[in-house]
Formats: sequence, structure tokens, C-alpha cells
Amino acid sequence: MGLLPQRFIDDLRLQANLVQIIQEYVPLKRAGRTYKGLCPFHAEKTPSFHVNPDKGFFHCFGCGVGGDVFKFLELHEKVAFPDAVRMLAQKFGVSLPELEDGSSDDARRDSALREALLKAHEIAAAYFRE
Ligand code: ZN
Repeated sequence: MGLLPQRFIDDLRLQANLVQIIQEYVPLKRAGRTYKGLCPFHAEKTPSFHVNPDKGFFHCFGCGVGGDVFKFLELHEKVAFPDAVRMLAQKFGVSLPELEDGSSDDARRDSALREALLKAHEIAAAYFRE
């Protein structure tokens, strides 16, 4: 077995500075332990878009979007979750893990990766809802 995708995702998520990455798209202001700004996903004049760097999640109380750094890239760049992971990995100059030893079947690998990533993402989303 190669590296576990979930572990790779977790490491990448830990490595990512959520505030810094979101700030490349949205101007944020510090508000106590969190940051807030105008939501990039709906039109508003009063900031209801919150970023919690401790938990590594963002949430908009206006339109209800929220998630981790990957979700933000998914929504903002309009890409699928695996592509958001790739973008972030690229940003840090790390290569994606090999899921199967000796496998050169890209489609199969992508499908396995997507499945693993979606699972990790569901766990993250559930955590945020609590
Ligand atoms: Zn919003």
C-alpha cells in the first residue's frame, strides 16, 4: 500500500493556512478568534462570511455555504473535490500519493481517489455541523 489518501488530505489540510488562502480571494478582517468578510458566494453588504482558522473551516451565515479549504476551492474555482486537492497540492509543490502500487490506470486511480476524498470530506463536513 502506498500513502493513505485520507492521511494525505489531512496533512494537506493541516499544512494549508485557510485564512491566507481565502484571503487570496476575499478580503478578511480579524474578529476575535475568527475572521470575517463579504461572502464571495452571494451578494451582501454586511459581512456574514466567517473563517475559523482553529477549526480550519469557513461558513457563511447568509447563504449557508461552508466547509474546509478544499470546499472553498471547489466552490470558488468551480472544480470537483479531487481537483481542489490537486490545486492545493500543487500550491505546496507536493505530489499526489500513489494509491495503488504499479497502477498506471489513471481513470481507475482517479475514481479511487475521488471516493476516498469524498469520504474524508463528509467526515469534515459532519464535524463542522456539530
Ligand atoms: Zn454567503
